[in-house]
Amino acid sequence: MKIVVIGAGLGGLALAQRLVKADIDVDVYERDSAVEARFQGYRIGFGGPGLKALEGAVPARLHPLLDAVSGLIEQPGRLVDAQLSVLGEQGQIDNEGRMFDRNVLRHLLITGLGERLRFDLKLDRYEELADGAVRAHFADGSTVDADVLVGADGMGSTVRRQLLPQIGVHDLPVYGAIGRTELAGFEHIIPGWSTMVSTKNVQLMLGRMKFQRPPVEAAAELAPDVTLPDTPSYIRWVLMLPGAPKTLDLQPVLDLMHDWHPDLRALIAQADVNNSGVSPIKEGDPIEPWPTRAVTLLGDSGHPAPPGGLGANLAMVDAELLADKLIAVRDGRREKIPALADYERQMCENAKIGRESAAQAFKNFAKLRAEA
Ligand SMILES: Cc1cc2nc3c(=O)[nH]c(=O)nc-3n(C[C@H](O)[C@H](O)[C@H](O)COP(=O)(O)OP(=O)(O)OC[C@H]3O[C@@H](n4cnc5c(N)ncnc54)[C@H](O)[C@@H]3O)c2cc1C
Repeated sequence: MKIVVIGAGLGGLALAQRLVKADIDVDVYERDSAVEARFQGYRIGFGGPGLKALEGAVPARLHPLLDAVSGLIEQPGRLVDAQLSVLGEQGQIDNEGRMFDRNVLRHLLITGLGERLRFDLKLDRYEELADGAVRAHFADGSTVDADVLVGADGMGSTVRRQLLPQIGVHDLPVYGAIGRTELAGFEHIIPGWSTMVSTKNVQLMLGRMKFQRPPVEAAAELAPDVTLPDTPSYIRWVLMLPGAPKTLDLQPVLDLMHDWHPDLRALIAQADVNNSGVSPIKEGDPIEPWPTRAVTLLGDSGHPAPPGGLGANLAMVDAELLADKLIAVRDGRREKIPALADYERQMCENAKIGRESAAQAFKNFAKLRAEA
């Protein structure tokens, strides 16, 4: 059985790791030229089933390294005003939760994939073949055949647009300026896992990514064959603003924050501009099970939701569910299409949880703005 995965994001890589471990033939095709071709590094919180599924995807020998590069949740988040006066606590401490840098995680998840991971190959479309197989057509004219094609190609998924053209993805009326600033010198602003600054027009969400050990140092000691990025501990910040600029210009952002506490302005002014940018905030239509074929979806492609939800956690859970089904097919315990249909039903149920979580987060943001 041959599986082709489109997209080397967290979800596609997690699936590939699980399939390689089960000795299933899998190749991953990524449109970017390398893992670090674009801004890729921001903090992601994993907890509960998402964290367990992440651990299940990372090869066991790398677990000590995974632990070392995680950030612990030691104190609750806080809500502050623009002068940094504390207004309240945000959420509970989830003792099982961990923070990870997405770029570090991707480096861990490519370990051992070798030539199974191919860059610079953008899927253009797929074609269903008479024998039940699928042919992937890439932008460079090349093709590859598979028994199952998995679209793990993110929010704007090419696979989903062909498979389920009725599912639209829409811009929300806010955009996010997303960046990061080295933690050193700013720890007092964010003693817990997050700090939210809310005013009538501008909301600034700060997330602490404090590696237990610097990734490069931890890899050198715990798994010298693994190359991890030399990323210092940082604060990931997201500014939710009205409008839709194409590029991140810090000056207009600082102008909007002209009467904010100087430490908050300094945090933005000292951003690592190479790892900061702007992005429209998008949301997809709800997804329901569809007539199953040998093409399926995983992660954001199957449940496109705005950041603030559980996207990466769900991608990990999808990878676990789908890998289990594909292993059952390979072992002759299930037929391919019914097994994929089961996966898609569960994926759609989980997608509802993801939508509700993102919707709740956005409702909370709106409430905080109204109360500011
Ligand atoms: C600032 C921010 C904070 C977040 N925080 C959290 C959090 O705390 N918790 C959480 O659970 N989630 C969080 N998320 C969401 C999470 O990052 C995503 O849900 C998750 O990364 C989705 O993974 P994925 O593998 O499905 O897709 P992606 O990571 O988007 O990967 C898709 C891959 O497919 C490739 N690709 C796309 N099109 C093609 C094509 N045609 N051919 C080949 N390759 C293609 C892309 O280049 C990309 O590498 C956050 C998101 C943001 C932006």
